[in-house]
Amino acid sequence: MKINKSSLNYPIAYFVLIAGAALSVLSFAVASKLDNAMTKNDFFVFASDRTILFEKAVIDDLNVLQTMAGFYYAGENVERDEFRVITEYIFSWQHDIMSISWLPRVINIDRRSFEEAVREEGFSDFCITELDPEGLIRNSLERSEYFPMYYVEPFEENKPIFGFDAASEPVRRLAMERSRAGGRPMATAWVKTVSGYSDNLACRIFIPIYDTYVSSGQARQSDDTLKGFVSLIFDIAKTAEMSWRGLQPRGINAYIVDKSDPDSEGTIFFYNLKKQAFVKSKIVIEPKDGLIWRKIINFAGREWEMIYTPSPEYYAAYKIRSVRPWAVLILGISLSIVLFAHILELLGRTAKIELDVKNRTLELSDSNAKLKNAQRELVQSEKEAALGRFSVGISHEVKNPLSVILGGVEYLEAKLANADNDIKQNVNIIKKSVLSANVILDNILQYVRPSSLNVDITNLNDLVNEVAPLFKLQPTTTKAEIVVELSPDRILMKVARNQIHQVIFNVVKNAIEASSAGGKVIIKTGKAEGFGVISVIDSGSGMSEQVLSNLFEPFFTTKRPGKGVGLGLVVAKNIIDNHKGKLVIDSEEGKGAVVRIFLPLA
Ligand code: ADP
Ligand code: MG
Repeated sequence: MKINKSSLNYPIAYFVLIAGAALSVLSFAVASKLDNAMTKNDFFVFASDRTILFEKAVIDDLNVLQTMAGFYYAGENVERDEFRVITEYIFSWQHDIMSISWLPRVINIDRRSFEEAVREEGFSDFCITELDPEGLIRNSLERSEYFPMYYVEPFEENKPIFGFDAASEPVRRLAMERSRAGGRPMATAWVKTVSGYSDNLACRIFIPIYDTYVSSGQARQSDDTLKGFVSLIFDIAKTAEMSWRGLQPRGINAYIVDKSDPDSEGTIFFYNLKKQAFVKSKIVIEPKDGLIWRKIINFAGREWEMIYTPSPEYYAAYKIRSVRPWAVLILGISLSIVLFAHILELLGRTAKIELDVKNRTLELSDSNAKLKNAQRELVQSEKEAALGRFSVGISHEVKNPLSVILGGVEYLEAKLANADNDIKQNVNIIKKSVLSANVILDNILQYVRPSSLNVDITNLNDLVNEVAPLFKLQPTTTKAEIVVELSPDRILMKVARNQIHQVIFNVVKNAIEASSAGGKVIIKTGKAEGFGVISVIDSGSGMSEQVLSNLFEPFFTTKRPGKGVGLGLVVAKNIIDNHKGKLVIDSEEGKGAVVRIFLPLA
């Protein structure tokens, strides 16, 4: 027997596959969440960085102003040339500052002499100016004090405002007044610049200068000690651009709102990334995902709100990042599948090995069994051979005395030809018994060691005639009558005489033994199908199916011990087969039997 398949189930492999897939999905979810959080967090970091840098940049501008103030407190006077050198130096690195100016306080009684002095400096048509209602520059109307742009650098670009009374204009005046009141720097609301510097959003800061420096926290200085203002104006877009230069990613929208402006709703400015300029905006557009960052910075007495939102450029960068969770998912699932396949293969290999081992074991036990069988058969055949040798020895030993007895009996027969019938019959019985015993021994010898064919041409009828008389003497209780019906033809064949005698004897003996008293056994000769045929017909007990199917089994007999050995038909069939003939038996239980011996014609 061979096993081809073993019942395999792979719970471990499936567990690995499912667990792997589940872990991948979980990793995907976690990675997505994390990426979202990172995108949000990164955005806030970027926005916060921008605010800090912007705030630092505007404070730098304020520091410039405070440094300038330092010069005024350091010496008696700052000359125009000195002012130019200082400011030129500042412009060389502080690029967002559009101009720096010195605005001395000129009280009305000093106006003429002041204007006169400036004209003497070489500005022949100098006078203090202001804007008329049409926005044109004119000679200033009379006021108690003036703050003209006396030094203004760079001068060429700012010539139109040279002498312009800053306090004459409301936006500037408000900042100046607050600066003066607080003794601190103050910024104006945003203005669109008047100068030719750029058409952009700008902020002007003023810082008051007094006769002497008094550190903050002390009592406010009186108006009489106010010498004037140092002021500067810077370009907010430029400030932003400078402070954000080189920042990645660029894709962040910025708004700036002046919260201090009473009209702050109208002063939302949007930083246009392409133009690098602030443009007026009506509203802050809030993104759907709520990614918005707001921070108020305090600058020179004003509150500016910085607002940031992501631009499409930022989302594009973020999209690239959103590929990662998918990569995690695909990688995870692929790995699980590979692992699953690998485990399947390993399990398959193990199962195959198990199967092989089982099959080998089976084969081994199989051949073991065969070996045992062969051993047993060997012992058996040795036993049989020994038994055969024994039977042959015994048979020969018995046959010798039997022939001596037969010789003696035949001698007596001859001597007692005239003796009593009684005596003659007894001698006859002895003779028949000896002959019968001799045939039984022949059967045993023939079965154990078949003798070789020693053939000669014989008439079939002769063969029957030579055996039949023996039965006339048969010592049997069943007194069946033997009827011989010989064929009128000479039927010649090549046979081993003795052996065919034995066959006829065996078959006829069976027929007589099956018959009851008064029965008839017919022995017929004839020809059929190219054979010489001897038919032995009886009307005795017949044979059952079961008996018929066992007839040629050695030692099969239905007779009681001492009556039958079960070799008669076996030997008969062997002999006939050796003669290339046939032995055909027809019988039914209770209906007698017909046994036909077919022998090839000579
Ligand atoms: P034995 O005569 O020693 O039993 P045989 O080989 O001669 O052995 O016969 C085997 C058996 O076949 C017999 O025991 C008998 O039952 C059956 N048999 C043979 N010939 C006949 C017959 N003519 N009628 C009935 N039974 C027969
Ligand atoms: Mg017999």
